[in-house]
Amino acid sequence: MISADHLRAESLYEDSARDAVFHTPERPAWHAMAACRGVGANVFFEASNYSAARELCKRCPVARDCQTAARSEIFGVWAAESPRQRRSRRRASAPL
Ligand code: SF4
Repeated sequence: MISADHLRAESLYEDSARDAVFHTPERPAWHAMAACRGVGANVFFEASNYSAARELCKRCPVARDCQTAARSEIFGVWAAESPRQRRSRRRASAPL
C-alpha cells in the first residue's frame, strides 16, 4: 500500500501548483481534512499514477465532498474516479 507520506515525498509539485491547475485559489473548508493535502498534482493528473491516486482517495475522509465538487472536472482522478468514470456518471444522471 502506498502511503500519503510516500506520495508527498515523491510529489513534484506543491499545493500552489495544483491550485493553478484547478483554478481554485481558495480551497473549500473540507479540503483541510483531505488525504491528498500536500501531495503533488502529478499524482492525480498523470495517467500512470492513477492507481496510486485512487488508493489515496479510497482512504480519504472527505471523498464524498470531493466527488460532488469534482462532478464536472474533465481531467484527473477525483474521489477515486477517473475522467472516464466521471463522464459515465454525468451521462447516467443527465436528464433525457
Ligand atoms: S477524494 Fe478528493 S480530496 Fe480526497 S484524496 Fe482524493 S482527490 Fe483528494
